[in-house]
Amino acid sequence: MIYLDHLASTPLDPLVLEAMLPWMRPEAAGNPHAAHAAGWRAADAIEQAKAEVAALVGAQPGEVVFTSGATEANALALLGGVPPGGGCVVSAVEHASVLGCLPELRRRGHPVAVLAVDGTGRVDPAGLERALAKTAGPALVSVMAANNEVGTVQPLAELAAVAARHGAHMHSDAVQTLGTRALDMAALGLHALSLSGHKLYGPMGIGALIVRQPFRPVPASAGGGQQRGMRAGTLPTPLCVGLGTACRLARERREEDARRIAALRERLWRQLREGLPDIRRNGAAEDGDGLAGCLNVTVPGIDAADRLLDLPDLAVATGSACHSGAGEPSHVLLALGLSPADAHASLRFGLGRGTTAAEVDAAAERLVGLLTP
Ligand code: PMP
Repeated sequence: MIYLDHLASTPLDPLVLEAMLPWMRPEAAGNPHAAHAAGWRAADAIEQAKAEVAALVGAQPGEVVFTSGATEANALALLGGVPPGGGCVVSAVEHASVLGCLPELRRRGHPVAVLAVDGTGRVDPAGLERALAKTAGPALVSVMAANNEVGTVQPLAELAAVAARHGAHMHSDAVQTLGTRALDMAALGLHALSLSGHKLYGPMGIGALIVRQPFRPVPASAGGGQQRGMRAGTLPTPLCVGLGTACRLARERREEDARRIAALRERLWRQLREGLPDIRRNGAAEDGDGLAGCLNVTVPGIDAADRLLDLPDLAVATGSACHSGAGEPSHVLLALGLSPADAHASLRFGLGRGTTAAEVDAAAERLVGLLTP
């Protein structure tokens, strides 16, 4: 299998697995919230993991709230974090886990604004300025750090500055950026940030919402008061340790990973462009400003999902929202201005830490062979 779908999920790093295993063994039993030595040992491991998560994003350990993943973190930020009587502003290219909160927010009577993006998928800070000027009262702004389909990196510092001028809180879904880009919440002035283990070579089933004062979302569940009451429930020690280790590795490796992976992405693009003259690149321009591992292309006239069936040993994503089972064209590609037909003719390559030049060459060769009439 040539695995070029790292934006959907990254393989577990062997060092993460190694760190987790001792905490999965029977002798590591112990509720981390229990008041005895077995519990304290687990609690210590979780505290260390929190420190590693916080260090990756320029936050404090006490600001980390573990969740089951970024979907839950986004829901906690949006459904729990829009101020009473306030509005919510998001971009049109947010992940479904953000956009999916909007109907409920509207039902609760919150005004909601969805910001358009330009042809590369970028949010214009002037658009946010206009939306906030129209929003009466306090607001929550949520704009992702980088897009998971086209790799466009948003101007977060400028957007956060606009939000701050209007006294709005700023949340960012940073799921896709943390493996290859530095991000400092304190320096950016972000109040909340979502991340996910399985996009960072960590385990599936865990993520975090980082919550900085004075932002404090209303919890979605009640229970034992864990995590400062913001997310009740017993913490899963092995998953927390795995996420912490993944965050430490990301900090150590992200610069080198970004350089190497972006070079492979350009190698893939060069070969596809040479073999398929009609091909177009979506999202971030060719100036290398996009997410290192993301290459989104349109090969006009093809049905991407259908053609990929002919390459069962190549893992690549398409421009259709297949996860819904409905095969709808991607809302992100439509927001960039692509037609539904071109969205269906689009492919997303997600390169990652383990990707090799040989894999990139083989993938390009097979695709060009398949798609050349
Ligand atoms: N946000 C973005 C940008 C994503 O790419 C994803 C995963 N596709 C999510 C949120 C959801 O993350 P999780 O799988 O951890 O719920």
